[in-house]
Amino acid sequence: MKTVYSTSQSDYSIATIGSHSALQILKGAKDEGFKTICICDKASRKPYESYRVADEILEVESFGDFFTIEQELIKRNAVVIPHGSFISHLGPERVQDLQCFHYGSKGILIWESDRKKERQWLLSAGLNLPKIFERPEDIDCPVIVKFHGARGGLGYFIANSTGEFYENMKRYPAEKDYVIQEYIVGVPMYCHFFYSRLTKELEIMSFDKRYESNADSIGRIAARDQLSVHINTSYTIVGNIPVVIRESLLPQLFEMGERVVEASRDLVDAGLFGPFCLEMIVDKNLNFYVFEISARIVAGTNLYPNGSPYTDLRYDVPMSTGRRIARDIKEGIESNQFEKVLG
Ligand code: ATP
Repeated sequence: MKTVYSTSQSDYSIATIGSHSALQILKGAKDEGFKTICICDKASRKPYESYRVADEILEVESFGDFFTIEQELIKRNAVVIPHGSFISHLGPERVQDLQCFHYGSKGILIWESDRKKERQWLLSAGLNLPKIFERPEDIDCPVIVKFHGARGGLGYFIANSTGEFYENMKRYPAEKDYVIQEYIVGVPMYCHFFYSRLTKELEIMSFDKRYESNADSIGRIAARDQLSVHINTSYTIVGNIPVVIRESLLPQLFEMGERVVEASRDLVDAGLFGPFCLEMIVDKNLNFYVFEISARIVAGTNLYPNGSPYTDLRYDVPMSTGRRIARDIKEGIESNQFEKVLG
């Protein structure tokens, strides 16, 4: 039997954990007329109070204790919006146990957070991916070695040969869980998509590239010094930089996004919906190599609380990704299709 939900927006609120993209999510929710709740620990309260985006703050000892306030969220009909920190604090498996309203497909979070499953999904969507080397002995081109769970790219290294691989691995004697990926020479490009089950339409919201230490700082010193001080490149993310893409590449990106959504329907019931991001390198021949997908809002969208050069074309109000999520929920509530925004 179909659950009957209230069709009055004022019966609901929007909630998330105070980190990652919460400012934008909560501001967007307020702009769409929702009450907002921010779940904070002691250390994280300040920005959410200062920027006045939260109508209410629920405090937990640590974010891992999320479930201790879940009943409070249920009482308030709060829709929880998952973001990168939310998933990393709870873990994709515990997200499946949530009893409160959750925006977006929970099942797809399992697929995006497992490197093998993620690759299977992206290949089934017909996307171009960097090659993977199963054995270090097979390395025949520059590779990037990624450790599983390496937070924000810390510890990744580049190797040009099998010998260099083993030389670098001496620094990580205990590491067994890594992937050896073809290193693509090109520029990074992160494309922020949004797919709504209500409108059945895919939108491109914006783009960013990342500001990474020390990958983005090595070029500030002379090659001579780079060699003499033996800097190991790391990719710890510090911030994000806005990008617009060559316009003639847009059709290809729409097609890639649509294929990813389409392929996701074979993996989980309702498929992927809401915000997601394809993380790519574009080479000199304009080939796209997708090295990762995030099946939820990414922090790169924080550049555009006031909308992006792309959302400005489509909307007559400043449309951040956070606000687009809130609008999807609002349209679901008001058109009696609330279940279509839940996962
Ligand atoms: P995760 O989101 O899983 O924690 P991460 O952010 O730690 O991942 P990645 O996003 O996989 O790390 O990559 C970090 C950096 O390495 C990015 O700047 C990206 O541009 C670069 N990079 C990743 N894969 C490749 C590749 N195959 N070729 C060239 N550069 C790459």
